[in-house]
Amino acid sequence: MTVGKKWWEKESLHFECESDCFKCCTKPGIVYFDKSSIKNASKITKLSSTSFKKEFLKSYNGQWIHEVEKGNPCAFLTHEGCAIHFGKPSQCKSYPFWRENMTSKSMWKFVGSFCPGIDSGPPIAVATIRSFLEKFKL
Ligand code: SF4
Ligand code: SF4
Repeated sequence: MTVGKKWWEKESLHFECESDCFKCCTKPGIVYFDKSSIKNASKITKLSSTSFKKEFLKSYNGQWIHEVEKGNPCAFLTHEGCAIHFGKPSQCKSYPFWRENMTSKSMWKFVGSFCPGIDSGPPIAVATIRSFLEKFKL
């Protein structure tokens, strides 16, 4: 059986994150922290993993999450950007290339009405998009 190509494999997708935007860090929702992001972010914040979890995360369905509530940006957002940039979770590294955002071209355009980086900048290689989708599977 031949599996059809995804819409984003058939056409060129452009993306470039806009500096000083940070809109995606203000959106209410859940940021999932896996083991390595907890380790890296704890190191950056100079906390032990236990203290980091206690201060910023909570356990949810067997995973560690940071909750971003309506009206409050992510706790790691500063005026200069993400305070844990080099240790931020795969979810943040792979935005906006999330499965839920890539289900259709119209969904991608809809996300683009919020994220100004979508449809700007250079084309993104299909292999790069695939690797983002692999890194963040929710
Ligand atoms: S909303 Fe888009 S352009 Fe803005 S910071 Fe997030 S990814 Fe970058
Ligand atoms: S962890 Fe950093 S990149 Fe992720 S939502 Fe928070 S501020 Fe943004």
